[in-house]
Amino acid sequence: MKDFTPAAKIRARDLKLGRALLVRNFQEAEEAFSRAGEEFLLFEGGGIKGVISRLVWEKAKLFGLKLPLERLVFEVPSLSSEEILSAPQLFRLLKNPANRIIIEDSLFSLKEWHLLGLKEEEPPLALSFSPAFRDLRQKALSAAAYTGLARVFLVGGGVRDMVLGLPVADFDLMVPEKVTPFAQNLARFLGGELVKSSLFGTYKIAWQGLEIDVTQSRWEYYEAPARLPRVFPGPLVWDLFRRDFTINALALDLKTLKILDPFGGIADLGARRLEILHLLSLVDDPTRIFRAARYATRFGLKPSVNFKRALSLALDLEVLSLLSPARLKNEVFRILKEKDPLAPFEWLRARKVLEKLPTGKDFSFSSLKRLLAGDLPAKREEILEALLLLLAGEALVRWGVPDQKAKRLLSGFKEIAKERDFLCSEKVPLSAKVFWLEKLPRASILAAWARWPELDQPLREALAAFEVRPELNGHALKALGVPSGPLLGKLLKRLRAAKIDGQVKGRKEEIALLEKEFSHVLAAGSTRLDRDDGSATGGGDGA
Ligand code: ATP
Repeated sequence: MKDFTPAAKIRARDLKLGRALLVRNFQEAEEAFSRAGEEFLLFEGGGIKGVISRLVWEKAKLFGLKLPLERLVFEVPSLSSEEILSAPQLFRLLKNPANRIIIEDSLFSLKEWHLLGLKEEEPPLALSFSPAFRDLRQKALSAAAYTGLARVFLVGGGVRDMVLGLPVADFDLMVPEKVTPFAQNLARFLGGELVKSSLFGTYKIAWQGLEIDVTQSRWEYYEAPARLPRVFPGPLVWDLFRRDFTINALALDLKTLKILDPFGGIADLGARRLEILHLLSLVDDPTRIFRAARYATRFGLKPSVNFKRALSLALDLEVLSLLSPARLKNEVFRILKEKDPLAPFEWLRARKVLEKLPTGKDFSFSSLKRLLAGDLPAKREEILEALLLLLAGEALVRWGVPDQKAKRLLSGFKEIAKERDFLCSEKVPLSAKVFWLEKLPRASILAAWARWPELDQPLREALAAFEVRPELNGHALKALGVPSGPLLGKLLKRLRAAKIDGQVKGRKEEIALLEKEFSHVLAAGSTRLDRDDGSATGGGDGA
């Protein structure tokens, strides 16, 4: 009997329980999968050694993919028979998305690990918990007990952030069953509001300015690339396996405070590695490519070999073109929320992802860079529109911008393009530029600013002047005796132009200007400008 105690060193040869089924092409895989009950086959050829999973092979058939088998190979740790490792070292190697390691011509699985009586020896992680989490945990455990649930988990990015020692912004809770009564009870225990329930039996609770998602563990499958998945109740491990990357396939048991990490997410976080769960992950859901760009740049992760293979497969199969415009827009928006939104775009560009997207013929990365590095005043939604304008050009609707809006954005952008000389001319007063530009969408202006460096100064000045208002506003002029009507509007516009162009400073000068330029009309309208006692102050929003 071999000594398999945790302290013992194990020779890889001692774990060999038989030869694996070795396949070299689709036909052989078909035969092997249908005749043997194996979930994983061994593949060797063309310089690659790895495993083919039944799940991926079936999916490839379902999607009608005509691919050489080696494109579906997932690489897992490979040991020579003579290698000697400690039990914890071996266990860590087994915690990969296939839960298999290769020992020469055999596969060794996590199941066999347990069959041999080996224990999981995981040193506990030192996590630090925020007061909000402690409070939530207590209430979630009480709600679980009240609902008759033995377990409740924190899952996904929240666990990842805890492992990294980062503040947790999103709390996603998961229960194995009874999600509706649990969510209701939790909302009551927290004194929070159950705000929304959605497809897939997902609930949201608004609590102390945070949003808590509550779901039931589920399995999902994709009927075609880039479609939304079909969802079924399923066990916890399946729920973790359906996720995008190993670093997010983590669950924290709220009772024991132990992390469930069946696919090696914690080791990947430690190694700063971005690993997928299976080879068709990015074909199933190409939005994961954008998610990858965000995580890789946010956490400094290096894509694994498997990730690179999965990405090249997804790009070759042109799956990005199957994404709905709304999903595409949402992913761009999520990138914009990153601290450094340029980095994910550069990451995507370096991996030739951008060129697979519906970009316009004039798209230049330098303009996107200028926009994102820019410091022009704008709301995030306006920056998003400007960015889409730069990326998509005429193809804006393919990025989820509604038709009418797309037309307005595009025509504004084109008008600015045509009027560059006017905007750059020093002979044209700034106010004339401002009045012309103000009629156009802000996103068109931002995009034009990023596209043509010569517009930097003129547009910067104009945008700053958008906020300029004369001291005398509509009320003030009325109080001074100007009747309501077109004349009032005309005077206000003149005052604003004068202020933008630096001709007047302060209300006295504004009154003087009106008296000088409009004395004829003002006299006819019997104004009291000359009797102003200072009670009519302005500086508001003009007309
Ligand atoms: P972020 O830190 O950017 O907010 P997050 O990890 O909290 O990211 P969410 O988009 O809030 O991510 O999703 C929560 C969890 O749901 C993820 O951690 C991941 O496990 C899973 N998930 C989300 N989107 C996908 C997807 N497209 N495919 C697979 N799993 C996903």
